[in-house]
Amino acid sequence: MGDSRLSRRSLFAAAAAVGLGGSAQAQLGRVWPDGARAAVSLTYDDALNSQLDNAVPELKRLGMKATFFLTETNVHWRLADWEALARDGNEVANHTMTHPCALGRYTAERLAHAEIDPMEGFLDTHFGADRERTFAYPCGYLGVGKGDRRERYSRYRRVLERDGVVAARTTAGGPNRPEAAAADPLHLHAFEPTYEGDGVGPAIRYLNETVAQGGWAILVFHDVLPKWHGDGDASVATHNKILEHIAALDVWCAPMGQVFDYVQSRWR
Ligand SMILES: [Zn+2]
Repeated sequence: MGDSRLSRRSLFAAAAAVGLGGSAQAQLGRVWPDGARAAVSLTYDDALNSQLDNAVPELKRLGMKATFFLTETNVHWRLADWEALARDGNEVANHTMTHPCALGRYTAERLAHAEIDPMEGFLDTHFGADRERTFAYPCGYLGVGKGDRRERYSRYRRVLERDGVVAARTTAGGPNRPEAAAADPLHLHAFEPTYEGDGVGPAIRYLNETVAQGGWAILVFHDVLPKWHGDGDASVATHNKILEHIAALDVWCAPMGQVFDYVQSRWR
């Protein structure tokens, strides 16, 4: 097993060295399903009712499945609706119990016991233990407790790894290169397309860049509302235009855990 992987890697390195590029990569299996040019995952954070009411109908209309990062404090208002969404093939995953952003006063144990472990348990109870264990960092903050950046981040990683989380998403960075995502899956880049304003331009630029690189785009949405107010929300019109744009691209659109599994099987 190990040998075949090694030889595949060295073949790839040799192909790259002589400039065979894309076709050699394709022969080595480093391609997206059905020859798609890139992968796209749509993610929705915080278990917001507006996602059920305004985003899900558009996802259904376009036949797309997405990832919903749930917080326990919000999910219980419409639990039956979230359960139905998961039964319909969407991914639901851990975004902590109460969504703490600043974790400077936390220890790894406190974060695990108050936020991560109980949310995994909650998801197991309501959505089954046979889930993709993925995670989104609340507010995109990657550190726990005191110390330098590296130390704070490694504390967070240990908590996630102990709970069997296989992939975790931040809220920043460019398109994911699949080999980088396979190597460092707890630090997946993502993009909030309507963070600065309610236009489709930033999303289109990000998606075009992803396609040009043959990479993996992860888009982050929060509230999807009739009108844009800032604070990370998107108007229904802009959200729908972004999804329509994706539907027209030659890309593989699938939940984050599903794309991650594929990336691991091909690029590790
Ligand atoms: Zn959040």
